[in-house]
Amino acid sequence: MKISNSLVWFRRDLRAFDHAALYEALAGARAGAAHVYCAFIYDTDILDALPRDDARLRFIHASLASLDAGLRRLGGCLIVRHGRAVEAIPALASELDVETVHVNTDYEPSAVERDALVAEQLARQGKSLLSHKDQVIFEKDEVLTLAGQPFSVFTPYKNAWLKRLAARPETLAAYPVDSLAHALAPAPGPSALPPLAAIGFEDGAPPLPAGMEGAEQLFEAFLEDIADYGRARDFPAEDATSRLSAHLRFGTTSIRHLVRTARQLIDAGAGGAGATTWLSELIWRDFYAMILDRHPRVATRAFKPAFDAVRWEEGPEAEELFAAWCEGRTGYPLVDAAMAQLNRTGFMHNRLRMVTASFLVKDLGIDWRRGERYFALKLNDYDLASNNGGWQWAASTGCDAQPWFRIFNPVTQSQKFDAKGEFIRRWVPQLARLDAKEIHAPWALAPEKLAEKGVVLGESYPWPVVDHDKARKRTLERFGVVKKES
Ligand code: FAD
Repeated sequence: MKISNSLVWFRRDLRAFDHAALYEALAGARAGAAHVYCAFIYDTDILDALPRDDARLRFIHASLASLDAGLRRLGGCLIVRHGRAVEAIPALASELDVETVHVNTDYEPSAVERDALVAEQLARQGKSLLSHKDQVIFEKDEVLTLAGQPFSVFTPYKNAWLKRLAARPETLAAYPVDSLAHALAPAPGPSALPPLAAIGFEDGAPPLPAGMEGAEQLFEAFLEDIADYGRARDFPAEDATSRLSAHLRFGTTSIRHLVRTARQLIDAGAGGAGATTWLSELIWRDFYAMILDRHPRVATRAFKPAFDAVRWEEGPEAEELFAAWCEGRTGYPLVDAAMAQLNRTGFMHNRLRMVTASFLVKDLGIDWRRGERYFALKLNDYDLASNNGGWQWAASTGCDAQPWFRIFNPVTQSQKFDAKGEFIRRWVPQLARLDAKEIHAPWALAPEKLAEKGVVLGESYPWPVVDHDKARKRTLERFGVVKKES
């Protein structure tokens, strides 16, 4: 009987525990006979578009080292290649005499297209690509309305999601990879992770603790304060959120592990309202993944088609406003502080993502897709589904979005969520001497008063690039084209 080897192709699931594709490959291997290989491809189809100092590459590189070490502890190793995945995977499958390639499903349209191409190439060699659910708790059409349709409103989706989980608690069971690890194959030849320089990227420390250990370290620290999450999560100066988004993006932690832990805290009455709110956030992530999967057109267009008729600002003035937003020099301190956090760390607090996105779309009148692309370039946790969902929410073009006539006031948001101005002072130090009342709208102070505190508008800090009240009126007119539909 022919021994059939298999290959696990790691993509956004860089961990060696509770891993659906790895488990299924190991379970499919005949004890002691077939080999299970593990591989990661630095895919040039993705990497070619990225800047050479992209911090995410440093996160991936450190996470691959952690994954390789984890696989080696189990008796295997990680094969790493650099090239086009659509070519490298079929080539590797042939080289290793592999019959089946196992992957965890990736729902992004470009990944779906890539996987279809790989499956086609493999089929030509008489091999197959098997895809497993791993990235989310419920996928595709697992959570539907009573009429059998995908949900487009979050709260009923969440209720149905929770109901399904209660009916199928086994969904959260970990895939016990360790128990089957004897089938893992050691490296077929010399194997070492290539340094980032070898694939054309700058080396350096990852932007946050990386790999499986980094994820666990962040999660444990977060669990100590989770009870207060419901209150503190909206205040960017408090650093009260888990910071696990990049780990969820690259799969260095398992969503089942996180949901299981949150559920245990809720059931034990130990996590307070915080654990319940945090679980809701994880369900938002499933919701947006489902929306992208069921409606891939949202990647480039409004979820609600009527909103594609909105005309956005264009031309030299709009370009200057967009540049001011990107560079954090809009003259609105909370917006500028948030953009500074993004530009310098690759992270932005959720409240501020809402504030800055709303400001770009509803104060500057610029197409939400431009902001979405900028976030995609800068965020270490960039995830098409959640980013697109968040942008379409803020722009009012999305499912269950902020109504188009509700327009965040960047000053009152600042007064409410950074009341003492602590976050602003951290990221816009030239305003540090303004007190809690003054810091949210420095233009409202007399120039002499500002000068006493070291601020000269137009020199040390910009004048506001737009007047919020006038911008608000323009936005209401702009969205007038969709009035009837919404
Ligand atoms: P926590 O508050 O600890 O939440 C835990 C996890 O729940 C997060 O890591 C994330 O996986 C998930 N989550 C939390 N809030 C949301 C949400 N609103 N939608 C979907 N999932 C959520 N999240 C991304 O992971 N990648 C993105 O590219 C992204 N872009 C966004 C763009 C905009 C305009 C907006 C408004 C939100 C965006 N979010 C994105 C959602 C959210 O801002 C981040 O997930 C969160 O700030 C990450 O911090 P954390 O891990 O400390 O979150």
